This record gives sequence, C-alpha cells and structure tokens, in this order.
Amino acid sequence: MDFTNYTKYYPDKNGRYGQYGGAYLPPELMEAFKEIDQAYMTIAHSASFINELRRIRREFQGRPTPVYHCERLSNKLGRCQIYLKREDLNHTGAHKLNHCMGEGLLAKYMGKKRLIAETGAGQHGVALATAAAFFGLECEIHMGEVDIAKQAPNVTRMKILGAKIVPVTHGLKTLKEAVDSAFESYMKNYKDSIYCIGSVVGPHPFPMMVRDFQMIVGREAREQYLEMTGEHPDEVCACVGGGSNSMGMFTAFLNDPVKIVGIEPMGRGPKVGDNAASITFGSKGVLHGFESLLLQDEKGEALPVYSIASGLDYPAVGPEHAFLHDMKRVEYTSVTDDEAIEAFFMLSRYEGIIPALESAHAVAYAIKSARQNSANSILVNLSGRGDKDIDYVVEHYGVGDQYKI
Ligand SMILES: *Cc1c(COP(=O)(O)O)cnc(C)c1O
Repeated sequence: MDFTNYTKYYPDKNGRYGQYGGAYLPPELMEAFKEIDQAYMTIAHSASFINELRRIRREFQGRPTPVYHCERLSNKLGRCQIYLKREDLNHTGAHKLNHCMGEGLLAKYMGKKRLIAETGAGQHGVALATAAAFFGLECEIHMGEVDIAKQAPNVTRMKILGAKIVPVTHGLKTLKEAVDSAFESYMKNYKDSIYCIGSVVGPHPFPMMVRDFQMIVGREAREQYLEMTGEHPDEVCACVGGGSNSMGMFTAFLNDPVKIVGIEPMGRGPKVGDNAASITFGSKGVLHGFESLLLQDEKGEALPVYSIASGLDYPAVGPEHAFLHDMKRVEYTSVTDDEAIEAFFMLSRYEGIIPALESAHAVAYAIKSARQNSANSILVNLSGRGDKDIDYVVEHYGVGDQYKI
C-alpha cells in the first residue's frame, strides 16, 4: 500500500479504517456526533482555528518539545543509538494535552459551555480540566469510586483546576462504568456540552480528530531528527493503550523507509486478566461505539485487563491501529511489567529522566532491541513523565539501587 496522502483517505467518510472504526450509537446520540464531525471538518480546518491552536501550542503548552539523544544509555547497551521525543516536557507532563487543547478549542468555536469526559487513572481528566480552565469552560469528569480512591492526587488536581467530579457507584466502579455514565450525561446535555474522548477510540470522528491533534508530535520529531542526524531513524516506537501518542508519532513516518513498532502491555503474562494486549490477543468486535480488535469473551463482553501502567489497561485499541496491523505497516509487540520497571530505572539512572510507566514500555522495547543489536537507531515517543508513578514504584520495587552505576 502507498501511504502518500494517507490521512486524506483514512478514515473514509463513514469513519472507517478498512473493516474497523465507524460509529455505533443510540439514535439520540447520532445527531450529536454528526454535529461534532461537521464542526470539526469545517471549523478545525479554518485559518483562524489553525493559527489559534498554533499559538496555544507555542505559548501555553511549551511546544515544540525537544528530541533528545540518550548517549549514556545507548553506550551502556551497545551500538544502537536511542533518541526520545520528549512529550514528558509538554505542559501537564504528557501528550494528552495535545488533543485536549484541540477539543477545548473546538468546543469554544462551537459555542459549547461544558466539556464532559470520563477518566480512569485521572490523566485524561487532568488534561481536560486544564483545557477547560484555559478556555473558561465548565468541566464534568465521570470517574469510578474505586479509581477516585486510588488516584487521590489527580482527583485533587482536577478539583483545583475547577472541574466537577461525578463519582460512579455502580458495577465495578471503574473506567467502563465511568464511560457509560459520561455517555448518559452527554445524551442529556449535548445541546450545550461536548464529549471529549481521551484517545484514538470511541465513535467517529474521535479516532480521526484525536489522531489529527496528536500528529504534531510525529511531525516535529521527524523534522528534528532529520536536522540532528541528516537521516531517518531505523525504527520508531511508542506504547499503545488506546493508541493516541503512538498514532501521533507514527502517522508522520508511514511513508518513510522506517520500521514502526507499537508496544502493548503484557503485564504479568499472557493469561486472561493479566495483560491488556488487545492486538496480540484480541478479536474483532464492538465496544464503546466503535469496531476494532478487543479482548472479549464468547458473548462479546469485554474481558478484565491489567497493566502496571494504568494508562494502558484498556480492553480495546483504536481502530486505525487494528487497520495498520492488518496492512502490516506497523508491527505490534509487547513488554511485561518487569521489563517496563527495568526501563523506568535505567532511564532515570543513566539519563536523569523519570518516565511514566506507560512510556517506560516503549523505552523497554528500545532497550531490548539495542541489546539484540537489531537496529542502528531508534526514536522513542516518551509520552509522559513519571512523577505520578513514583509512590507506587518505590512501594513495590524500591528506588532502583540494583541499577547503580
Ligand atoms: C494515557 C497515557 C498513555 C496511553 O494512551 P494512548 O492513547 O495509547 O497514548 C500513554 N502514556 C501516557 C503518559 C499517558 O498518560
């Protein structure tokens, strides 16, 4: 397949990427999502929208984020040179703000006064609450009671930023129920509100819109890497939860002679409930309004998932990833909790960068490849910083003294 002008043809006008994607919605919500799609296709391509987003990225988010050459880590491992795209230096410490600012700006242009979303670990909630504060919009975040108890610092951050937290008390009281609750609220309030999805998942147009807002990551990185080295990296990699930081990175390289690798969380191992490797173990199905590869039982119910990185434990993956996997343009592989922890400490000790546990999965893949000498250069998307993870890591793994230099 030729990937010239790829984003013009994918998704098609029905929001499909080959056999995946689409919008599976109750009739009441069809209109609402169509309205978002139409607004996105017109407003978001206007010069004033593009210029305003460009200014926000520069002055508020601190973009462009740098590309950094990990010389000490690379030399420790062999001859492969590892480079990082530093999304951990984006305002709020991760890539998520890239699409939240886009969604917030769209809401403002559409004349909406409220942003509605669910959050699991709270990372999307914090990024969205930040965008809401910036644009002067109300923010309503649905969150399971179990997650509220587990993620106290993020709940506090959202409250300080002015968001209203709606605790979800039914079922397992985690992300899946929070999605249902946010949809319900959106159904009642779509006239003056907009639903903001936190990854390249959900019904059309979100997988496309979130990808487009994240494409700045790959576009910057490709240019920065070329300028630094005069060539393309042999490989580009990123961790895949729903798949937004990876799509943002990968899209820019689809038409280049570069191996592209997405890293899924293998958690504690291949048993059901011990990982969240939706491409590795999943099958085709519909969840949360879109068709993709998902971890499901015989009845089509989503299976329980687990990863040490809470941003990666989702039982499905964005439809575009399922498509790029079918097309064999992107390779998908996985990394265990233990490998991610080793990468977390090695990057901290050798480079002075504490990565998010999600991002540590991508670093772990680069470390593995470097040890096998299978590439000369790898560009890793470092999707976020690890401050949010340090208490958990120290409690379970210590401070990493086994990695003393
Ligand atoms: C949420 C999150 C992820 C996973 O989400 P994607 O949509 O797959 O990018 C990865 N890294 C960090 C730091 C996150 O906060």
